[in-house]
Amino acid sequence: MSDESPATPTGQFVCPGCDLVFQAEAGEVARAEQCPGCGQPILIPARDGSTEIPEEAEEADAPAAEDGINRLHVQQLTRERRSLIRSRSHALVGLCLCLVGAGELVLFGIRAIRHREPWTGPAMYLLLVPVGLWLAWRMGRLAINLHRQSKVERLDEPKTPPDFSTLQDGSQFVENLKKLHE
Ligand SMILES: [Zn+2]
Repeated sequence: MSDESPATPTGQFVCPGCDLVFQAEAGEVARAEQCPGCGQPILIPARDGSTEIPEEAEEADAPAAEDGINRLHVQQLTRERRSLIRSRSHALVGLCLCLVGAGELVLFGIRAIRHREPWTGPAMYLLLVPVGLWLAWRMGRLAINLHRQSKVERLDEPKTPPDFSTLQDGSQFVENLKKLHE
């Protein structure tokens, strides 16, 4: 049990296991470092020569190992939540762009009509308006769903897979339109 290695003034250590001479910086406190040659733990004394490895360092490792999975899980949830929020922001930006686009198309259409352009011009613009509005509606739904999801994940780890049955895929919208025509 001689993992204490003779230190030279230049910070060189000799591994007692494999006689490898390696460089190590002495720190505020002593620490164990793996020999680059054989992997054996080697005690690197502190700058003041003390060879006591502080207990804190060891204690900090134990709960880390214990909570390792939990911590990883929390990190993963945090990452997922962040990406949900990011996606939500993107959806909101998309929603705004679609609304602005639809508004612009209406303005273009009106202007084209005023300038008495051939009917194809205004018709093109005005036909694209519902497309813009539909996209805006989809983006809005997406943003709401992402927002809900990010809220749920913050409260607790979901015990059941997310319920997508409440999500609308646009078919309800089509149904409503059909009902209007009946
Ligand atoms: Zn070694």
